[in-house]
Order: sequence, then structure tokens, then C-alpha cells
Amino acid sequence: MTRGLAAGLLLLLGLLIAAPTGAAGRPVARTIDEMVAQLRTDPVLVQPVMGTGDAHVAHDMLAGLAERVDAPVYVVLGALPAELDGAEHPAEQAAALLRQELGDGLYIIKFDEGIDYARGFGKAASLDLNLGYRAIRAAEEEGPEEYNRTTAVFDAAALLRAAAEPGQPISDRTLRKLMDEPWAFIATESNEHADQVARRWVYAIAAGLAVAIAGLTLSRVAVGAPMAARRAPDHSPGAPEPPDLADTERVLDQAQHRFDALSAAQLGSASAHSADEALRAARTVVGSRKDLDVVGARVLALIAGRELDRIDKPSLAAYRPCVVNPLHGEASETIQLSGTALDAPVCRACARQPGDFLRARTWRGSRPYLDTDTVWASTGFGALVDDLASQVLQCQGGRG
Ligand SMILES: [Zn+2]
Repeated sequence: MTRGLAAGLLLLLGLLIAAPTGAAGRPVARTIDEMVAQLRTDPVLVQPVMGTGDAHVAHDMLAGLAERVDAPVYVVLGALPAELDGAEHPAEQAAALLRQELGDGLYIIKFDEGIDYARGFGKAASLDLNLGYRAIRAAEEEGPEEYNRTTAVFDAAALLRAAAEPGQPISDRTLRKLMDEPWAFIATESNEHADQVARRWVYAIAAGLAVAIAGLTLSRVAVGAPMAARRAPDHSPGAPEPPDLADTERVLDQAQHRFDALSAAQLGSASAHSADEALRAARTVVGSRKDLDVVGARVLALIAGRELDRIDKPSLAAYRPCVVNPLHGEASETIQLSGTALDAPVCRACARQPGDFLRARTWRGSRPYLDTDTVWASTGFGALVDDLASQVLQCQGGRG
């Protein structure tokens, strides 16, 4: 079922992404004030720039990466603002002017080709972008032509990736994948195949960010949210309550005590092995204190508890949480997600009337958890897969 589900999500993803995003492009910001206004509602500003294909797709990819950086991020890839025409170091000046209005954060700015300016202020000052620059240099050295220049979109993606995962070098494989993107290098001749580029973009994004976007797609289909909704930060008053860490630790300790009391014979069973794995996975995430991790630790503790039950009662079903919100408890029914052939496990209440998806708090507001780049989104907290614990342990072992 897992493989079928993944294939279904990817197919759906292709369809949704291939469809026009609908939103008409915003007017091109021509002054610093216009840039400030646009950045206040959306911190990634990508204006149609040569050699980058579809600015919407570039925007969404960079916004997805920016979301993963643990600090405010402002990206401007666009036209030189009128007031800085003829100025020395216009990108640096623009950053200073934008920062006066928008405050501290990581500023990545480009007005022509390449990145003109990238620097963090405040909390973002400690972000090390060197691994991003190293990836850009490697791409230019190893690109397909004798002389290669990466595009601003490539550079911004590499820098954001470095900022999102501090100290984690971009692997050769990831770099190769980025270099294969149609938007990686500045075209040597003018590109008259915009449609073709856009199609390749779709493929590239689908391959590169499949997991994150698959989660996003699922959440959008299930809640029927309009495509444009994810561009706008959520400032709705219904901000999610932080999960109860103390209670989660209590549930986890309970399961651990039961595990510790197992006899040698019981320890040899497959269910005991699964319980052990779930407990170890729960311990690795509960310490992070992130909201979704705390919820995930609770689900893993409940999975462990069920596996301990299954040692003596193997006919019991493994624990699956409600995919809409794991805090609803165990799924007892399934619903077909609208417009798809996917059956997703839900609690009884959600089977009658699907509730709101669990939301994750971010510095920019809150969003449905399926719309985050986490193992929780790609697994539905174990509702959509059979091996949540091992996926969590793998993630903790090193994300690349
Ligand atoms: Zn529910």
C-alpha cells in the first residue's frame, strides 16, 4: 500500500504542478518601497529573470528552502530598483535599506547575474554560507561547458541549502542533481523554448522535492485549500497550541517501563523488536522540543505500547494515528481523499467530518503539518506508512 500511495501522490503532484498556478504575477517591484511591501507578505521575491524558466516555480522552490532556515530569510532576484541606478554596490545598499524596514535576517540579493549579496544579520549572522559557495564553485568547474556560470536561482538555492542545514556539505549526488536542472546554468544563447523549460522545471522540482511537495499536495487535496493559499503566511487567530511535552514524556516512560519488564522470551519476539525501535525513535525526537517532534514522539510511544500488547495478542492491529491530527488518537476508519483514490486512516470524528489538519508553528505563522519538509509530513505520523520508527531513525542519522 505504501508504494502505491507514493506513486499516487507523485502522479497527483505532477498533475497539480503541471496545472497553471492561476495567480497572476505580481507587478514587478521597481523601487525599494515596492520591494518592502512585497517582501512583507512573501519573503521570496523572484521576478522573471533571464535564463531561469518559470519565475513561479523558482519562487516556490526557493520559498520551500527558505522555510527550512532557522531564521527570517529575504530573497530578492529581480530588477535593479530605480533609486539605486548607477549606485556603487547596489545589492549591498538595497540590503541595508530593506533591513531598515524588515529587520534582521538572511538577505540574498541579486540584480543581474549571480548573487550580488548574501549576508545574515542578527540571529542569521551566524549562518555559515561557505558550503553553499563551495557548491556553486564546484558546479561552475564541473558544468557541461568549458566556462559555466550558475544562475541566480541556482546560487540562491545552494546558499539557502547551506543555511538550512548548517555544517552539512551538499553531497555530490545532490549537487549533480542540481546541476542537471534546466535552470542551473546561464544559457549561452537566448532560449526560445520557454514551454520546454517550464516542463523540465516541473519534472525537476517533482524529482527534487518530491517528499515535501507530496505532503503539500495531500494536504491541499484533503482540505481543499486553494493553490494560492500556501503563498500567504498564515496569521489566523487559531494558532496551534504547543503539544504537552510532560504528558508525552509520561506516555513514553510508561511504554519504556513495560518494555524493561519483558522476559527474555518475550524480548525475542518481532513485536518486542518493533517496540524497541519505536521507543528509540521517540527518544531521539522528543529531545528536540519542536512541536511536531513532540507529537511524533507521542505517536511513537503509542506505537511501542501497541507492539508490547501484540507480543501476547498478535491479532491486534498495529497502531495508526488519525492522519488529520495524530492527537485525535487512533484511526478506526478510512476516508478517501477528495479527487484521489487514496484511502487515509482517520479517527471516527474525522470520518464523519474531517477536522483541521494539525498545524506546525513556524516563525512566519502556522501551516498544516503535511505542508512541512519533515518526516512527519511524508509519513502522516505513521498513518501512511508501516515503518515510521525506522524512517525517523534514518532521518536522525543524517539528513542530506
Ligand atoms: Zn481525526
